[in-house]
Amino acid sequence: MAVDLASVGSALGCRGLSVAYGQRKVLHEIDLEFEPGLWTAVVGPNGSGKSTLLRALAGLQSSRGEIFLAGRPLKSWPRRSRARQLAWLAQGAPTTDLTARESVALGRFSHTGWLGSRESVDEAAIEAAMDATGTTEWGHRRLSTLSGGERQRVHLARALATQAKVLLLDEPTTHLDPPHQQDVALLMKRQAREQGVCVVSAIHELSIALAADRLIVVKDGMIIGHGSVNEALSGDWLSAAFGTPIEIVQMQGAFLWCPKL
Ligand code: ADP
Repeated sequence: MAVDLASVGSALGCRGLSVAYGQRKVLHEIDLEFEPGLWTAVVGPNGSGKSTLLRALAGLQSSRGEIFLAGRPLKSWPRRSRARQLAWLAQGAPTTDLTARESVALGRFSHTGWLGSRESVDEAAIEAAMDATGTTEWGHRRLSTLSGGERQRVHLARALATQAKVLLLDEPTTHLDPPHQQDVALLMKRQAREQGVCVVSAIHELSIALAADRLIVVKDGMIIGHGSVNEALSGDWLSAAFGTPIEIVQMQGAFLWCPKL
């Protein structure tokens, strides 16, 4: 039975979503539905279409098919309300000459407008986002003086500062050392559980992705599976996607990828 994406309860969804670069089709008629309050990790080999899928869902990539945000066609949302509802973190977001705090404050423009002044609610959102990402101490430093990992956390803080109900994050753990990858994974989990946010992130570190509530496994622009980690493991979706046996072990409640060396 076709999924009713306009139904209440779906934070984000797509039906028949396809993307082509020139003559080359890289996403093939994808149907997906994302619930609020869950963190979904999108995994698959390099070039399988993870970034393209996320960009298309964010409305940043020309595509065919339908995309729904909170039950309404994405295209019908006025720009500013859409930016309040859906926040986007690009892979390798650009470095600017702004300070870290100024950069995070950009996340509030969908609330204040370009000419509006920030109110206490905006300052509180900026502070909470910087606190959650451990970026407060670099508030006055220019982005260009931060390391790749530090900058990545500032960009994540900017996305959080929007307080959007849908967060689309393209490789949010890139450049981060293992403890900070873990922090970001916990942050995504908490945003989902405690704030009811629908978090969708492309993640290439398998052990981090396996901590998500749901997995979407992609291969050659098609979905191999969308479901719980247990469903992904029992169906061996990862081996099917990567075209090689992927062995996952369980240790202290966590699933870990065990490379065969
Ligand atoms: P992933 O995020 O899984 O690594 P991408 O979505 O970046 O995959 O890319 C999917 C496919 O589309 C790849 O084959 C890639 O080379 C191609 N592709 C991505 N962006 C472009 C672009 N702007 N122009 C042409 N081809 C692109």
